[in-house]
Amino acid sequence: MDIHEYQARELLREHGIPVPPGEVATTSEQAGEIARKYGGRVVIKAQVHAGGRGKAGGVKLADGSAEARKFAEQILALEIKGLPVTKVLVAPAEEIAHEAYLGAVVDRSSGVVVLMASSEGGIDIEEVAAKTPELIYKEQVDPRYGLLAHQASRLGFKLYPGDAGRARQAAGIVRKLYDAMIDAGASLVEINPLVTTPTGELRAIDAKMNIDDNELFRRPQIEELRDSESETPAEVEARDVGLTYIELDGDVGCVVNGAGLAMATMDLVKYYGGQPANFLDIGGSSNPEKVVSALRIITADSAVKSILFNIFGGITRCDDVANGIVEASRQIEVTPPITIRLTGTNEEEAVQILESAGFSAMTDMDEAVRKAVQLAKQHE
Ligand code: GDP
Ligand code: MN
Repeated sequence: MDIHEYQARELLREHGIPVPPGEVATTSEQAGEIARKYGGRVVIKAQVHAGGRGKAGGVKLADGSAEARKFAEQILALEIKGLPVTKVLVAPAEEIAHEAYLGAVVDRSSGVVVLMASSEGGIDIEEVAAKTPELIYKEQVDPRYGLLAHQASRLGFKLYPGDAGRARQAAGIVRKLYDAMIDAGASLVEINPLVTTPTGELRAIDAKMNIDDNELFRRPQIEELRDSESETPAEVEARDVGLTYIELDGDVGCVVNGAGLAMATMDLVKYYGGQPANFLDIGGSSNPEKVVSALRIITADSAVKSILFNIFGGITRCDDVANGIVEASRQIEVTPPITIRLTGTNEEEAVQILESAGFSAMTDMDEAVRKAVQLAKQHE
């Protein structure tokens, strides 16, 4: 789950990280009022679940309330990476002498949390990571001991060599960042930039946090931070009915049971020259309603030119899936051609149900994927 910058700032602040104050506005008038209250220069920042807002015109410095109102109006009219901006954060602007980067991720290859720091922070950190990765320092955290003091110090001194005062401040922020990450159940936390003010103080002026969905059930106060308006309607419906759905760029819509089979199906779609439009796992339950929801979600994506069902019946019964497909075709208008492959539990019943409703089904996965890819190409 993504949370907004203003929410992440609050979580970091609660852990004692120096984050400047700020308030959220949904109209330009509110933004103007908040700016008047703070006085002086303020920064207006789009609150959307996307990075690179600065480059997209979503971060602006305003001198006083009138300008804050004008910039807020411009930013509230923006769409950043396809996401409409409905909220802005208004915060007193900081004077910046230096921008550093500080982050932590659950690293899949080493299986532990890795802390990262670079003195080349700011809006070009992706370029630093791509071109000069040696300028990003890393520390792996052993989960048995947690982050050790000397690791935090080392990162602090890598950031500010020869400046013990700032290095110590940074080490404290590193420790608090790690605690904030673990407490929130986050899979990623970033402060970019971590700025140095002209008087040598460190401030976190941007914050990003992704929460691991599997940590949410035991953290209701974090779940409350969810902003459903910032999620696509498809994501919301999928979550409500318990489907795992991830939208992708291709045109072959896939409905599969089981995450492993879903991955294998996507691989095979690519192997035969197609592009999957989504990852969709209807899970191990036998509920025709889930199939109806799955088809509704997939047909709402106008890029989908062909739909592929790939069901390996076990706990998921093929006849339930067949009933779901027939029910969905009654409830919603499905224009793209549907290719169905099912095998396993109650396969014969499923074929009968489908055939009497005018669908056909196959049992060979290769054949079905090839056909679905070919149909997508015909309808391009
Ligand atoms: P991002 O582009 O989405 O990462 O948004 P950021 O919040 O990181 O802002 C982008 C850039 O805007 C920063 O790297 C800063 O250079 C600049 N910026 C943001 N806030 C302030 C501020 O309070 N004062 C000044 N002078 N610059 C700021
Ligand atoms: Mn940033």
